[in-house]
Amino acid sequence: MKFYNLKERDEQVSFAGAVKQGLGRNQGLFFPDSIPVLDNIEQLLAMPMVERSVEVLYPFVSEDLTKAQLGDIVTHAFNFPAQMQPISENRSILELFHGPTLAFKDFGARFMAKCLQAFVAKDAKATGQKKPLTILTATSGDTGAAVAHAFHGIKNIRVVIMYPKGKISLLQEKMFTTLGGNIETIAINGDFDDCQALVKQSFDDRALKETIGLNSANSINISRLLAQICYYFEAVAQLYRQQGQQALSNIVFSIPSGNFGNLTAGLFAKAMGLPIKRFIAATNANDTVPRYLQTGEWSPNETVATMSNAMDVSNPSNWPRVEHMLKSGILDEGCVSSVSIDEEQTQMTMIALAKLGYISEPHAAVAYKALQYNASEEEFGVFLGTAHPAKFKEVVESTLGQPIGLPKELADCASETILSIEQSGDFAQLREYLLSKI
Ligand SMILES: *Cc1c(COP(=O)(O)O)cnc(C)c1O
Repeated sequence: MKFYNLKERDEQVSFAGAVKQGLGRNQGLFFPDSIPVLDNIEQLLAMPMVERSVEVLYPFVSEDLTKAQLGDIVTHAFNFPAQMQPISENRSILELFHGPTLAFKDFGARFMAKCLQAFVAKDAKATGQKKPLTILTATSGDTGAAVAHAFHGIKNIRVVIMYPKGKISLLQEKMFTTLGGNIETIAINGDFDDCQALVKQSFDDRALKETIGLNSANSINISRLLAQICYYFEAVAQLYRQQGQQALSNIVFSIPSGNFGNLTAGLFAKAMGLPIKRFIAATNANDTVPRYLQTGEWSPNETVATMSNAMDVSNPSNWPRVEHMLKSGILDEGCVSSVSIDEEQTQMTMIALAKLGYISEPHAAVAYKALQYNASEEEFGVFLGTAHPAKFKEVVESTLGQPIGLPKELADCASETILSIEQSGDFAQLREYLLSKI
């Protein structure tokens, strides 16, 4: 299968090309030239997650990986569960936060790291020489941790992560700045946008890009999205196991959305034949998409800070993929609706969920509230738990008025030393640093 650039259709690459390049020409996103439709869904649902994921992903990657290689990658990447938890009779949460950094991004980042590792090794073997590969990424928290842990210890891949100094919580900072080895972290004097601008400047610098072999590992990378397809299958498989065939007719997913990668993956799963009735894209006050679906006008406002800060995005990078699927007839336009949930509703929903016996965090609460608004009692609503509540300890504790414990992953890194260097945010300084270690 080839992947083509949604902006420049004549640019076509294989899976390995799309993973290594990240973005196509003119900042175009890569998209599979056909989406395989699986005709053995019930058989797939009966399989264990890793085995099933190999079947689901193989058609996308078969040009570059054997089934055995893919099996190896998936076994390493998905070594923690995606767990459905019932909230009420017809509502369940899909908990995606049982990986090493307690957020769903572990699925995509770990799969991407293992794929890149395989492709770097393959290229080195073919050419007889090692080309440098540098992952440069900006983070306001979750992405940095997931990418750092996913790539830690992988030979011949250097990872450089920038973050706004003093603008993320200490615990968040410790989750990715204490690893060392091939993970380098830079605290930038500036905000998240300044960090992103530095990444962009680096990618625009052709000489730099070539010399250090730049790649970004952000959520536009197709490998991350493909990995995320697998847990939609797992969610439906768990329902199927518990409730049989009748569970499959009425499933609605509500997805806490920022850059809309998670929604994109869900749409892929549906297009492949997974029985999902429809999707609700839940956003916080950053409501570009719900307004767009209502008015037909794309008019991002200034990004506002909310409790569900991983969704503080006003110009979601994956939207062109969603739009393409809805407008090109791959899926029916009516299968996505979108709801914006404000801060007060988010907090009230966390309290309501706690009363139902479930301790949640702001992102999942936004998605649950959107289900309450938008899904009927006849529909079976699944909302995604994208992060462990302990990652948002302060707001969870102040909202619920009760202390919550730290899971081992967070407690372990709390006592480690931060290894970051500091930089001013000046591009010349960053450039010199990146080149100095090659
Ligand atoms: C990244 C993130 C999101 C948003 O996911 P997208 O795929 O960018 O829409 C939601 N919740 C949490 C906790 C996240 O880290």
